[in-house]
Parts: sequence; structure tokens; C-alpha cells
Amino acid sequence: MNTTASHPAMIVEGLTVRSPDRTILNDISFQLERNDILGLIGETGSGKSVLIDALGMNTAPGLEGESRTLSYIDGDQTIRLRDFSQDALQDKIWGKKIAFILSNARSRFNPIMTVGAQFEDILMSNSGMKRNEAVERSIEMFKRVQMPDPLRNRGNYPHELSGGMIQRVEIAIALAMSPRFLLMDEPTMGLDVTVQRQTLDLMDGLFKTLKTTAVLATRDMGIVANYCTKIAVLYHGQIAEFAEIKQFFKNPQHPYSKYLLDIAFASNNKNIERRKRVTLAHGAENAMKGCFCTDFCENVGAECMTTRPPVIERERGHSVRCHKVKSKAGSAS
Ligand code: SF4
Repeated sequence: MNTTASHPAMIVEGLTVRSPDRTILNDISFQLERNDILGLIGETGSGKSVLIDALGMNTAPGLEGESRTLSYIDGDQTIRLRDFSQDALQDKIWGKKIAFILSNARSRFNPIMTVGAQFEDILMSNSGMKRNEAVERSIEMFKRVQMPDPLRNRGNYPHELSGGMIQRVEIAIALAMSPRFLLMDEPTMGLDVTVQRQTLDLMDGLFKTLKTTAVLATRDMGIVANYCTKIAVLYHGQIAEFAEIKQFFKNPQHPYSKYLLDIAFASNNKNIERRKRVTLAHGAENAMKGCFCTDFCENVGAECMTTRPPVIERERGHSVRCHKVKSKAGSAS
């Protein structure tokens, strides 16, 4: 969608993911610049988690992904993920160049090993460090993520740490090999509001220090507003709108973006009615030949019912998938 970045760090073109019976992601395209944090916003079922996996070529068994371009640019090195086998991705990319931070971190830890031992095993397997080097590095990373009493807590089992502390261990592991790219799926889900804010502030500071480019999937428009540089609104596996954060909040264009902003920041009866209609529209997902928003959009025209809307570059860096949106120059291409 956005092809205007001057220092591209991530280029995604035509990313589509299918299960045996349906298309889950349909022709996802966008481009990020170095140090961008893209907020990927969408409701449950929009395809956020599948997209986070697909961006790292780590799709679940049974799903098939394809793309024209899926490249990460790190300095003068361009990493084309399609050139890597699954084994090579495991050996050379995941955890080293591209790291994942996911929700519900506790479920990924072995309950009968201390978090420190698990962290050190990962470091030894990813980097060939000796045990004593891995211990040093894990303590250094625990300090970096502001883990309270790092020496004592590295000897604790997962159930002995709070949700916020476990998430800090997850972040420490993800950042231990200094990856330049991070893919995050609701990394603070389930944490209380105060811990969530502390964790996001911590990540924000670390990303700026490490010059990380990241994609952050969330259902929380407030998180996107406060921590991201760009936004992609995902609905039914398609990007409805892509913009710089300031552009988006100043002048959202797509009816679905406006709906999400309404329910995030101005709840009232009208919105509840609209929510019901949107929820109903979800069931029609694959029968839809035209626009995925015809059930609730107030601007529907004949072409919306029959033809998939094109992506309109409204202005530099701001793209909208809609028949009715005009480019600022005045014409809808
Ligand atoms: S393409 Fe048509 S139905 Fe879809 S958002 Fe635009 S105006 Fe509404």
C-alpha cells in the first residue's frame, strides 16, 4: 500500500494466506521505514495473529502463504525470506534477525525449569555461547528489561513470577540477540493497565535504543496512538487503511477505521447498533465479492456490491481501500 519510504526496512507485497477452505489474508502490502513501529489494529478474527506469523514466514501447519515480496532490509543487507528454507529460517533468522514477542508468555515456558535456565538454553542454542557466557548475558538482559532483583528472579520457576515479570523475561529473550526486527502479537494482553503501561514504556525505550523496526498487533487503539509511528487497519484479512499516526488520527478515511475510533473513544448507543451490524457482517466474509463493509457503510454505491475496492493513495503515506475515497489530487485511481 505505502510505497513512499525513503529508508525502507520492511517491504511486503501481495501477502496472501489460505487455509484449505478460505482466504485468511488477502493481498497485504505495505512498507516500513527504519525505526517504524506499525500498529496493526483489528478486532478478533481480523487476521492479526496470522499476519504476524506470516510476516516471519512462520505460519501454522495447514496454512499456505505466498507473496510477491517479503523482504527485510538491515543496512546494506536485504533478507528475502522466500529464499530461506524452514531449517534456514530457524538457524539464521528467527530470534537473531527477526524476533517474536507474543501474548500469554507463561504458556511457552517449561513449568519445571527456572526461567534463567530456559533463557540460557535458548542463548546457547542460538549463539553457541558457553553456559557461563549465557548466564552473564541473561543477567545483563534481565537488568536491561528492569527485572526486579535479577539474580534472585532468574532462579525462579515461571509460576513464581507475576504476569508482568514473565512478560519481561519474554522481552529479554526476544531482544537478547539484538534483532533489528520485531513481530509482536498483543504482547501485553492479560496484564493489568498499570503493568501494561510499564511494559509498553519499557519496550518503547528499548526499541528506540536498539533502533528496532516492529509490527505490533493489538485491539487497543490507545496503544497504537501512544506507541506507534504508523497504523494498518485490518478487517477480514485486508488492510482497509494505512497511514502515518498523525495523518490517521487527524483525518481517518475508511468507514471501518471511523467505526473503530468511535468504539474506542466515544461509546454510545449508536455505536452499539453499528457494532451489531458489523458483527453480523463477519458471517458473510467469504461470500463477499465487492467491499467487505457493505453491511454497515453509509456510503455504499453499486460498484461496492460487485467489485473489490482498489487501494487509493489519498496522499503520500496514506492509503485507503475504498471506491469512494479520492486522492488529494482529486481523482480516485
Ligand atoms: S468501497 Fe463502498 S462500501 Fe466499501 S467502504 Fe468504500 S464506500 Fe463503503
